[in-house]
Amino acid sequence: MSGLFSLTGKPILITGAARGLGAAIAKACAELGAQLWLQDLNAEAVDAAAADLRTQGADAQASAFDLTDFDACQAWVQDVYNQTGHIWGLVNNAGITNHGHILDQTVEDYRSIYDLHVMAPFVLAQAAGKKMLTNPGPQRGRIVSLSSIAATHPRPGIGNYASSKAAIAGLTRSLAADFGADGICANAIAPGYVLTEMNKAILSDKAFVRRIENRTPAARWADPTEIAAPVAFLMTEASSYINGQLLAVDGGMNAFLQSNED
Ligand code: NAD
Repeated sequence: MSGLFSLTGKPILITGAARGLGAAIAKACAELGAQLWLQDLNAEAVDAAAADLRTQGADAQASAFDLTDFDACQAWVQDVYNQTGHIWGLVNNAGITNHGHILDQTVEDYRSIYDLHVMAPFVLAQAAGKKMLTNPGPQRGRIVSLSSIAATHPRPGIGNYASSKAAIAGLTRSLAADFGADGICANAIAPGYVLTEMNKAILSDKAFVRRIENRTPAARWADPTEIAAPVAFLMTEASSYINGQLLAVDGGMNAFLQSNED
């Protein structure tokens, strides 16, 4: 079994890695020996995240651009490939929220979310997948994308977010179907509610925080490390027969018969 859980020398690209889940995923993969290529919109923060990993002995580089610039996405993959000669992993993590009732949302409110949550992962998976296909095999690569419990269990007012997270689950199944025979596995993670900056506003609403705790068998919100560890596992060769899955990492929330009580 030894080696199956190692990422030593494997180049992995992670989007939205300046903070939150992306930074935690980078750290978890670094602990398994991966060579990390962090990406974010925020240049200063992603540089700091990579520098922090390097002080812990990891091999980490940073790039800053907007993922909705699809040419920049392709150039990033090519640039990493030029420097490494191979690409093993891609984590489609970057995400945003722009919530609102369906009656108040515009086409642009949907399109901007879809560009980041669906189109950029498609462009990156295609570009990175082409490079993975040149790996010797039989295992050639891994693609993991961040979906959400909202993909299957939305709450009111998050239609653009929830539907984009359902789309990434569908894209994941298609990537698995197209790449499965080539030794490239594609899976998605559906986190429940995690303690990150993305949730800053709702975390200040004590009643909402309590409602989530009451509806989660774990009776608490997740720490980012608890999402990062399964992503790191799905990056390893130990996960070679797991493909096309939407893995709930939600403290049991989606398996729980919810009541209407707080
Ligand atoms: P976060 O807001 O803390 O971090 C997101 C990162 O993505 C930021 O560093 C941000 O700068 C970057 N980013 C945003 N737009 C970008 C763009 N256009 N180009 C490049 N980078 C961009 O969020 P998080 O909580 O760490 O969430 C990470 C992923 O997990 C997201 O896809 C999110 O939808 C998903 N998720 C989060 C939760 C949760 O409770 N936090 C639950 C389910 C799913």
